Amino acid sequence: MKKAVALSIVLGMVLCGCSASQNNHDTSSKTEVSVQSEVSEVSKEESKLPEPESRDIFAMDTYMVLKAYGSNAKKALEESEKEIQRLENLFSVNIADSDIARINANSGNPVTVNVSTKTAIAKAIEIGDMTDGALDITVYPLVREWGFTTGDYKIPDEWLIDWHLGNVGYQKIVINGNIVTVPTEFEIDLGSVAKGYASDAVAQILVENGITSGLINLGGNVYALGRKPDGSKWKVGIENPTDTSKMIGYLEVQNKAVITSGNYERFFEEDGKKYWHIIDPKTGSPADNGIISATIVGDNGLDCDALSTALFVMGTDKAIEFCKAHKEIDAVLVTKDMKIYATDGLEKNLTMTDGLKCEFIKR
Ligand code: AMP
Ligand code: MG
Repeated sequence: MKKAVALSIVLGMVLCGCSASQNNHDTSSKTEVSVQSEVSEVSKEESKLPEPESRDIFAMDTYMVLKAYGSNAKKALEESEKEIQRLENLFSVNIADSDIARINANSGNPVTVNVSTKTAIAKAIEIGDMTDGALDITVYPLVREWGFTTGDYKIPDEWLIDWHLGNVGYQKIVINGNIVTVPTEFEIDLGSVAKGYASDAVAQILVENGITSGLINLGGNVYALGRKPDGSKWKVGIENPTDTSKMIGYLEVQNKAVITSGNYERFFEEDGKKYWHIIDPKTGSPADNGIISATIVGDNGLDCDALSTALFVMGTDKAIEFCKAHKEIDAVLVTKDMKIYATDGLEKNLTMTDGLKCEFIKR
């Protein structure tokens, strides 16, 4: 068999033994981030492809790689970079005059925000409702208490977790036009949806510039625009959550977002136990309900990003039930004991690697 199979597979992942602040929009440390990259093998076939216009960007605490083919590619990528910067300036909890920082600093009071911020918050609320509160952007004080925003990790005292849980509940966010109000003491962050939103925005810019082939990789949040210039579909790898140098398989896609939430993206270990950055809003502690990686495949990056976080929180049984009830959603779920489930909509697109098997969720 040709080596081409392994080629040009873009790992929807950060190739690093991540233990700290990489791949996160909301941490201040930017030094530990490893570069997301493609599988390096290059075949003769692949090398026949025209050179894409390419941009490496560091934003949202993530190394991002944008590639586009076509005559307008350079201009499109310049515009894309500006757009990502604009979104970071709106969404970051660490930029004092960002929309989110202003909402948090003015809890209890109405804050006028940009339409992009409003849209992302509204989507997070919608997916919160859809997932029985598994996605809840008001968990931010807990994300911070566990040290995931600073890298200063700690297991908080029970009473502190309970106290913060008193200020969790996305249902209490009020949106009126472009005015957002959160209750006093509440704080939000868009870490669960920001890169999905950004990937949609970049895809739109590429399309508006007449680009029909491109790959947007926002640190493991991938959007594959059109097909590769040789007419074949993009191959997007899904990282093996237990060994981040490997993948469990890859998806062949076109015009799709492929977005993963994994327990390897940011975590710390204490007394042999691993604690990661996705918090279960019901317990205030890292969501530990059986899933260690949830990948969502769909037309829209924002939805996929919100859902990937939510399905991770839900855990194995609920996430499988959710997939059965929502035929429009495609997902690949990896459990703690390395069982891999995928929705039947991916049967033709998903190729497992490393001898791994996957059970399809029939609908
Ligand atoms: P993602 O990598 O898209 O799954 O997003 C993870 C990020 O979302 C974390 O770093 C937190 O900033 C934030 N977060 C953690 N738990 C939740 C949750 N249950 N709902 C919403 N946002 C969360
Ligand atoms: Mg997400």
